[in-house]
Amino acid sequence: MKIAVIGTGYVGLVTGTCLAENGHSVVCVDRDPAKVASLEKGQIPIYEPGLEDMVARNAEAHRLSFTTDTAKGVAGVEVVFLAVGTPSSENGRADLSQLLGAADAVAAALTGPVVLVTKSTVPVGTARMLMKRVRERSAHTIDIVSNPEFLKEGDAINDFMKPDRVVVGCDSENAQRVMRNIYEPFVRTDNPILFMDFESSELTKYASNAFLATRISFMNELSRVAMTMGADIETVRKGMGFDRRIGHLFMFAGVGYGGSCFPKDVRELIALGREEGVPMPLLEAVENVNEQQKAILIEYLEREYGKDLKGKTITLWGLAFKPRTDDIRDAPALRIIDELVARGAHVRVSDPAALGHAKNMFAGKPVELVEDAYEALRGSDALLVVTEWAEFRRPDFEKMKGLLRKPVVLDGRNIYDPAAMRALGFTYRAIGRGDKHAS
Ligand code: NAD
Repeated sequence: MKIAVIGTGYVGLVTGTCLAENGHSVVCVDRDPAKVASLEKGQIPIYEPGLEDMVARNAEAHRLSFTTDTAKGVAGVEVVFLAVGTPSSENGRADLSQLLGAADAVAAALTGPVVLVTKSTVPVGTARMLMKRVRERSAHTIDIVSNPEFLKEGDAINDFMKPDRVVVGCDSENAQRVMRNIYEPFVRTDNPILFMDFESSELTKYASNAFLATRISFMNELSRVAMTMGADIETVRKGMGFDRRIGHLFMFAGVGYGGSCFPKDVRELIALGREEGVPMPLLEAVENVNEQQKAILIEYLEREYGKDLKGKTITLWGLAFKPRTDDIRDAPALRIIDELVARGAHVRVSDPAALGHAKNMFAGKPVELVEDAYEALRGSDALLVVTEWAEFRRPDFEKMKGLLRKPVVLDGRNIYDPAAMRALGFTYRAIGRGDKHAS
C-alpha cells in the first residue's frame, strides 16, 4: 500500500518505519527541513532504541523516504496518517494548529481518494470537525479515521509492532477494510482491533493516559503517608501489585510523571470537562499531586541545607522524563532545576541521552551539562537521582562518595537499597521509604 505519514516526530517516525518494515511504501513528511535532511542522511533526530537500524534498512530497500513537501508526499497515496504535535495551549486545551495546518495541506494536495487517519492525540470531537473541514477543501473522497497511538517512548518499536490493542474510530466500511488490512499483521497473536465510533476512540486515548497518571499520583500521595508512618512504599507496592485486579505497572512512586503525553492529556480532559460543564475533581487532584511531587527532592534538600542554596552545587542524574528516551518535554527535572536555580544553587546535570536537547535551554543560568555522570559529582553537595537510567542503578558508590563534597544522595526513583546506602555512609533519602527508621 502507498502511505504518507505527516509529522516525523516520536510517533510519526516510528509509525512510518514500522509500516515500511511490513512492506508498505511509506513517505514521511515533516515541515522541519533540518529533521528531513538528517533523516535523509540516515541520522535519526530522536533517541529510540532500535529505530535507527530499522530506518536505514527500509530506506535502503526504497520502502521509506522523507520529504518536506506535503504535495509530493501525498501524491498517489491511499492512506495518510497525521502524526503532528498537539501540545497544551494556555487554557489547558490541546492546540490543534499543527493538526489543522497538516490536514489542510493534505486536502489541498490530494490526487485521489484517501483514508485520512489521525494518529495524534486529539480532543473528543476532532474527527467530525476534521471530516467537515477536509471535505470542504478537496473534491476527492476522504474517509476519516481516528486511530490513537499507545506506544511508549523507549520501547516504541515493540509497542507498535505488538500492540495490546488497536483502537480505530471510523464510520465507513472502506475505512474499516483499509485499517484491518494495515493492522492485521501486527495483531497475529489475536490482540484485538477494536472498531468503534469516533468519539469513543478519541476518549479512549485520553482515558488511558489519565488512568495511568492517576495510578502514579495515587502511589505518590500514598508514599508521603508511608514516609511519615515508617512504612516502605516499595513493599506496599508489591503487596498491592500481586492482586490481579491491581497489577504491577505504573505503580512506582517517584518525582512525578512528565513527558509529552500524560501532563497535557490530563490537562486537556480537565479543560474539556470544564468547558462542557462536567467538572473532573479526580483528575484535578491527580494533577495537583503531581505538581507537588515534582518538588519532593527540593523538600528533602531543604532538610539538609535549609531554603537558601547559595554556594551549594547540586547534581542531577537524569534530565529525560524517563529512561531510554531523550524527550525532556514537561520533564520533572526541568522544574527541579528551575527551583534549585531560584534558590541560588549551582546545578550540574548528567543524562545518557537528553543533554543535546538542553544545550541552549539554560543559557545565562548556573546550570552545567556534564557528559560523564561521575564528573558531574565532583565537589557537589548532593546528588539528586531524577531519571532511573539503567547505568545509574549499579554505580561505583565508593567512587561517588570520593567525588561528592558531602555524601548526600536523594533518590527520586527508589533505585538504591536504603540500608546498604546508609551502611556505605551516605545520607540517603528515597520516596516513601520508612522515614521513621531512616535517621
Ligand atoms: P513531535 O513533536 O515529536 O513530532 C511532531 C512533528 O510534526 C514535528 O517533527 C513537526 O515538525 C511536525 N509537523 C508539525 N506540523 C506539520 C505539518 N503541517 N506538516 C508536516 N510536519 C509537521 O510529536 P510526537 O511526540 O511524535 O507526538 C505526536 C502526537 O502523538 C501527539 O498528538 C502526541 O500526543 C501523540 N502521542 C505521542 C506519544 C509519545 O510517546 N511521544 C505517544 C502516543 C501519542
